[in-house]
Formats: sequence, structure tokens, C-alpha cells
Amino acid sequence: MKVGDIEILQIIDGMIISRLPSTKPLPNAESLAWQEQHQMFRPDGMIESTLGGFLVRTRDRLALVDAGAGEAVVGGYSPPAVNIDNDDDPFVVHFQRIGMSREAIRGIAEFFSGTQMVRGRLPASLDAVGVCPEDVTDLIFTHLHFDHIGWATAEGAAFFPNATIHCASADLDYFLPGAAEEETTALVYCTPNVPERLGPVLDRIKTWESDGTVLPGIDVRLAPGHTPGSSVIVLSDGVDRAMLLGDIIHCPLELTDDDFDLLVDHDQQLASQVRQAYAQELEGSNIPVAGAHFAGLQFGRLLTGQGVRRWSFDDA
Ligand SMILES: [Zn+2]
Repeated sequence: MKVGDIEILQIIDGMIISRLPSTKPLPNAESLAWQEQHQMFRPDGMIESTLGGFLVRTRDRLALVDAGAGEAVVGGYSPPAVNIDNDDDPFVVHFQRIGMSREAIRGIAEFFSGTQMVRGRLPASLDAVGVCPEDVTDLIFTHLHFDHIGWATAEGAAFFPNATIHCASADLDYFLPGAAEEETTALVYCTPNVPERLGPVLDRIKTWESDGTVLPGIDVRLAPGHTPGSSVIVLSDGVDRAMLLGDIIHCPLELTDDDFDLLVDHDQQLASQVRQAYAQELEGSNIPVAGAHFAGLQFGRLLTGQGVRRWSFDDA
């Protein structure tokens, strides 16, 4: 994928297969044609979210926008193994501590019981396109959830030894002291929390407080809601543009249907407003966009006609 002279490559780290709550049921979930079009919804109700990042090569920089889920906690634990009747089970201990009843915990455990995660392939994916960690000059995070900052560090040290790290100050301020919901995330996904993951690289983080240019050809726009500092990355060269939407949407359906939201946001109402504003902006614009969890991190466009929005993936 190219935007003028800027080259963009999808770098896959893995996949989360999970159930996610939504504002309304999936339309046509039984239809094979519909599933093929949308690619990430399975007939059993599970959603396949690709993990990874976008390698952006400009004239003189090599930036990675988002960095997958990284390594799991050594000797970690995963929800399918939860033993709901065992008072010493880490899952039970955690949710009891935040005041949940056994029945409520049973419901949560059931919800997460099919969760699977494949992670850790990002280094091999970089290698496959001839890039080694030393080559990457910048890491740019759309937000600071664990599945976007994973390879900021590995084994307690910077994984990209020469990279400057860029993120929104609003996210750093929110997550660095240890946000309450991160405890659940760390447990469910067997992952270090933000202070643990970013601790070794704090001295190389630069933040943005408002919309602006991070590097030539790479601009950021604050789009809060999913997290306090969630941002969209705009790549541009001359008149050509593309957008990396991060997690302001998880699936193209959230762009085509204003009433369909996956309920995974810090501020659901604000996130929904942001999502709808981007849908209006993108509708018929012919700007290629990609969400951070689209199948294979493919780009696509939001088409319009007869008052209806449609999504079309670009040819790979
Ligand atoms: Zn995400």
C-alpha cells in the first residue's frame, strides 16, 4: 500500500478470538456471504481481531504505528482455565476483591471462556519484510491498550533500541499511574500492565497534547472515547492520504451502521460520537482507512450510494 511516496506494510503479531458485547445483534450473522465480506465475525459469535501494527516508511523515517500484544506474562494464566469454585483462583480472587458475587463472576468467566490469543509473531513479521528492530526510528501509538504497545519492550528492555516513542499525553496521564480497568485486562489477557510495559522506555516517550504533525507525512488527530487519548493517524504525501483509525472502530460495520457499536470503550457515548463523525467524513471520500483490528489489517473504503454506506476492502 502506498500513499504518494510513503510505503505502508501490515505487520501481524497475532489474533484475539473473543466475544465482544454490542449495541445490537450482528445483521446477517448466519449468512456466509456476509461473513466473507466482513471476515472477522464467526458464526459462533466469536470475533477474530487481528493484532499487529503498520510499518510506515517515509523518505527518512521508518515508523511503526502500534506494536501488537507482545509477550505474555511468563507462567501466566488464561480465562479458559478459570476454576470458578476455587477461592484461590486468580480470576475469582480479582473479581471478589472488586466486590462481585460468585454468580456475577461465573457470568464473566463464561463470557471469556472461549477467548483465545495468538501473539508474539511481530518480530518474525518484521524479519519477513527485511526489517530488524534497530531499523525502526519511531513507534507511534494510537492509544495505550496492551494490544497496541506490546513490543515497546520485551524482557524488560526496549525492543526497538533506536526508536523514539510517540503517544497522546492524555493516554499516558491516564494509564501510567495504573488505571483500574487495567487490572482486569492484565488478568484476562495474561499481559503486563502499562506501567510494567512502558516503564523501561519512559525516557524516550514524546507526547502530543493536540492535533499536529509527529513526523513529516505523519499527522495525529485526537479522537478520544475509546481511551482518553485515542488518536487517528493521518498519512499524507501531496494530495494523497490514508488514515489509521486505531480502535475508534473495531470492524467496518461500525462505519456503515451508526447504531452498531461494539461496547469496548472508556467513554461509550463520546466514542460513538467520534465514530459517527469519522463515518460522515469518510463516506464517499475515497480515502483508504484501516482499523487496528481489521482482518489482516487490510485497508478499505467507505462507499456511498442511494443514501446507504457500504464498506469495500481494497484488493490486497
Ligand atoms: Zn485494540
